[in-house]
Amino acid sequence: MGQIVLQLPLDTIQQMKVNYSRTEKPAPPGAIFSAKTPSCSITAYKSGKVLFQGKAPETEANKWGTASAPPKGPKPGVKDHKHPAPKGPAGLKPSVNDHRYAPAPTLFSSSHIGSDEAGTGDFFGPITVASVYVDKSQFALLKELGVKDSKLLKDDAIQRIAKDLMHVELPYSLLVMRNERYNQLQQRGWSQGKMKTMMHHHAIQNLLAKIAPTQPEGILIDQFQLPSTYIKHLATEDERLQQNVSFMTKAESHSLAVAAASIISRASFVREMDKLSKQAGFTIPKGASAAVDQAAGRLIRTHGRQALPVFTKMHFANSAKAEKFV
Ligand code: MG
Repeated sequence: MGQIVLQLPLDTIQQMKVNYSRTEKPAPPGAIFSAKTPSCSITAYKSGKVLFQGKAPETEANKWGTASAPPKGPKPGVKDHKHPAPKGPAGLKPSVNDHRYAPAPTLFSSSHIGSDEAGTGDFFGPITVASVYVDKSQFALLKELGVKDSKLLKDDAIQRIAKDLMHVELPYSLLVMRNERYNQLQQRGWSQGKMKTMMHHHAIQNLLAKIAPTQPEGILIDQFQLPSTYIKHLATEDERLQQNVSFMTKAESHSLAVAAASIISRASFVREMDKLSKQAGFTIPKGASAAVDQAAGRLIRTHGRQALPVFTKMHFANSAKAEKFV
């Protein structure tokens, strides 16, 4: 189990509290709030320290601040925000409120691209990323079809809406990174953040080519890490941010294009999980719970350890926990 501690300003912590309101749990004394997501639990203290603890704490921590290397010793690393290291090519200071990349309020009502992903906190199955272009003339139709934040929808509703969307002329690009590729890149030193960055980047690139010569009025990515980190990852692969890209946490509740992207990526993830279940001969559970550990144990018993790289994100703590079910 890993942990990351960030020192964050109180307004960021207030924003986090709103952001995690759906997963909030009772806070310990001295804490402002506590929440539990599929990848980690989060506790924010009045001192401004925020503790992310669990199998993949970086999944959430990277959205709010930059952690130094994951602390190995007993003392968690505390980010020094008084003397932050220069970030990215333009010396960007890490802040979740980096307005340079915040969307203009007019974006949500204009023809734009939205990009979102699924599968990142799940031990089994791929990461999927969808970028979708929605023309403003289609907003009413998408609302009519029930397009909204996929986290508010059950998987069967998501499948139904995703199917309906296929009958709408909705240009999109969908990328699936299956587990073998994921594990290869992970072993090569790629963080999950870098994989997601490159997937969003390429999905947007594909989509821009598809809709050319039409130009979107903007591109909105559901923020999963600091924009400066996203740009830094691109630079390591000699790529640059496209024009007019903005980032926002919980973008799927503001932008119909991001909401459509969240549905298409989630529907693809669910289809991939169905395929894996068929291949395994039993239902492969989503998420990263104890039921997932048991299923991983069963997978090892029935298909051997060599099945793990094909079915799972091997670096998750679930791999070790599965052993007690073998
Ligand atoms: Mg998202």
